[in-house]
Amino acid sequence: MPVVMKTPSSLQTIIYRQYLKSALVPMLVIEILLLGLYFGINLYTSGKNQALLLEEVQGNLLDLTAVRATRIDTQLRGVARLASIMQADHERFFASDRHCVLPNGEPEFARHANGAYYKQADNGGSSLYYSATTRIGEIEARKARCSEGIDPLMRSIVETNPLVTQAYINTWDGMNRIYPFLRDADQRFGPSWNVEELNFYYEADAQHNPERRGVWTSAYLDPAGQGWVMSHVVPIYRGDQLEAVSGLDITIDGIVDHILDLHLAWDAAAFMVDRKGTILAMPPRIEALMGLQEIRDHDYAEPIVATREKPDEYNLLTGRHPVFRDRLADFFQSDDNVAELSVDGHEYSLIQQVVPQTGWRLMVLVDKAAIFEPIEAMRALSNRIGYLAIGGMLLFYLVFFVVLLSVARRLASRIATPIHALSEATGHLGRGLREKPLQAVGIQEIDALSVNFNAMADELEQRSSQLAESRVRERMTQEEARTLQRIASTDALTGAHNRRKIQDLLQAERLNFERSARPFGIILGDIDHFKDVNDRHGHLVGDQVLAEIAGVLAASLRESDTLGRWGGEEFIILCPGASLHGLTTLAKALCRRVEKHMFPVVGQKTISFGVTLARSGDTVESVIARADRALYAAKAGGRNRVEVSD
Ligand code: GH3
Ligand code: MG
Ligand code: MG
Repeated sequence: MPVVMKTPSSLQTIIYRQYLKSALVPMLVIEILLLGLYFGINLYTSGKNQALLLEEVQGNLLDLTAVRATRIDTQLRGVARLASIMQADHERFFASDRHCVLPNGEPEFARHANGAYYKQADNGGSSLYYSATTRIGEIEARKARCSEGIDPLMRSIVETNPLVTQAYINTWDGMNRIYPFLRDADQRFGPSWNVEELNFYYEADAQHNPERRGVWTSAYLDPAGQGWVMSHVVPIYRGDQLEAVSGLDITIDGIVDHILDLHLAWDAAAFMVDRKGTILAMPPRIEALMGLQEIRDHDYAEPIVATREKPDEYNLLTGRHPVFRDRLADFFQSDDNVAELSVDGHEYSLIQQVVPQTGWRLMVLVDKAAIFEPIEAMRALSNRIGYLAIGGMLLFYLVFFVVLLSVARRLASRIATPIHALSEATGHLGRGLREKPLQAVGIQEIDALSVNFNAMADELEQRSSQLAESRVRERMTQEEARTLQRIASTDALTGAHNRRKIQDLLQAERLNFERSARPFGIILGDIDHFKDVNDRHGHLVGDQVLAEIAGVLAASLRESDTLGRWGGEEFIILCPGASLHGLTTLAKALCRRVEKHMFPVVGQKTISFGVTLARSGDTVESVIARADRALYAAKAGGRNRVEVSD
């Protein structure tokens, strides 16, 4: 299996990675966990707080609207009670026609150009207007005149109750009496009308209201010119005969000003809806939300002769707004007081309280964003703190990284430098390059290693020097032996081989000649008349001449030839592989050289040679003896010459 070697990492990288792994990563994990916990708790508590706050707000609004609905109920009940007082008064009027009371003096009636019969001047009481279609006879004229008696009550009702803007009576035969005085009744009503077509009449008639109770109408456009109003109407009977319907008007403005003026917290808006779902009154915020404009003004260019109720779009259950239409249908049916709505991406809480008097509903709409605003602000603040913490953390880690890097670098260098020095010292070990012992660095293990290393290096150095010494000694011994050997085989005066050495060489050459038949020859030389030198110049000069002749001879020899001192003033030259001719030529050449050499003190000297070639069966002695005979012959033949053995 091939061994995959990982690229070795530097100590710094290893330390750095280790730091990262053991310090940074766990810290980072813990920090992230803490941050997650922080944001999670933040989210959880704000969600919890929202739910609690919503509950609180809804509870508050419920209590508030309940109180308010009760108050509205009381107010409306007040209006209804006034209406019933008025009903009693008006019934009393129709019941007793014996005498006529005129509280504001004699009224003046006239016939209008359009045919209507009407009261000309405001005498502090109501206006009066009789439809042109009614023939004004004695009964009608008396009804118009004597009904002045009901004015004080109508007047005091309007003046004492801030909600009530008008009090009126409409008789079956088209007589209308209304307080406050209506100056332009002709323009409002036109010449004639049919009471059966007017809601504030027929809603109280025998067919619609057999119980003869007071009835609250829907919102309708007031023919008398007050704009959009609602009426509490009461039937006026004489026996079983419906003589008239009387009513008290509340304008929508009045409702808005007196009923919906709740000053609710959280920007909540209150509005009023009748039992059919038609919005009776709403503040501008609800108008904007529903895309409606509350009807406050109306152009009374044309007389209104039939009931004009609020258009369908003001009905929540049939109106244009899909959310209100669909969601509220259920809410209306249910007994719940609170509903949640989502309109145009906004979440709303809707609260309803029924006003028992009319079956109307006081509704309060509150935008949850407004409720949650402080919590959202708190959460945003907490989040900002969280982000700040993240930023701080990142900064911390950045600094931490840098610090860590430098710490790792320092630590690595602290460890690596002595190790490097150690390894360097190890490299130099045994090569004599060690400068000084390794110093302590303060790391126990490394210091122990250094101490050991120093001891080891010292030991090694000691051993090395001992070894070197012994080598030197050994070499010296060998040298001495060689010198001794050389001295033993060399002639001290001439430097040539001595007689014993030459005899060994001769013996070796003779054996070699026997084995391989390689010839060898010898040249034996004797200085001529050497005794004379000694005699004339002394022994020292004789020695000089001996040494010098040896030098001349050695300089003329081939490398394979060997010069030896045979004894006294005799020399021998051993020539391996030589022919007789070659020997003779060499001997003659040597003769010439010596003869030509000028010796200090003695001048010219000569030498004689005897030459012989080894023969089979020769001993060293027989070869020498033959050469000696030839030398003797050369001496005898006159010296300074060469003789070859026969
Ligand atoms: P020739 O050989 O020509 O017949 O005459 P010669 O004078 O050379 O004869 P001989 O052999 O009688 O003389 C040799 C002399 O050489 C005798 C001796 O004193 C001398 N001699 C021998 N060995 C040495 C030496 O080592 N140093 C010196 N100075 N003289 C030496
Ligand atoms: Mg001699
Ligand atoms: Mg001699």
